[in-house]
Amino acid sequence: MSQSDAVSKGVAVCDACGSMFAVEVSPDGSVRPIGVADCPCGEGELRQLG
Ligand SMILES: [Zn+2]
Repeated sequence: MSQSDAVSKGVAVCDACGSMFAVEVSPDGSVRPIGVADCPCGEGELRQLG
């Protein structure tokens, strides 16, 4: 039962402060943090791990 067009769960790290977040990864590769709008430091890009 695969849903190739569904979001998947992943982990991302902020490249400014190193904080890690659970994220949803869209099929187009965009990363959206779960439970937060963005990294609280406000300076980093979230990069998906793995
Ligand atoms: Zn940060």
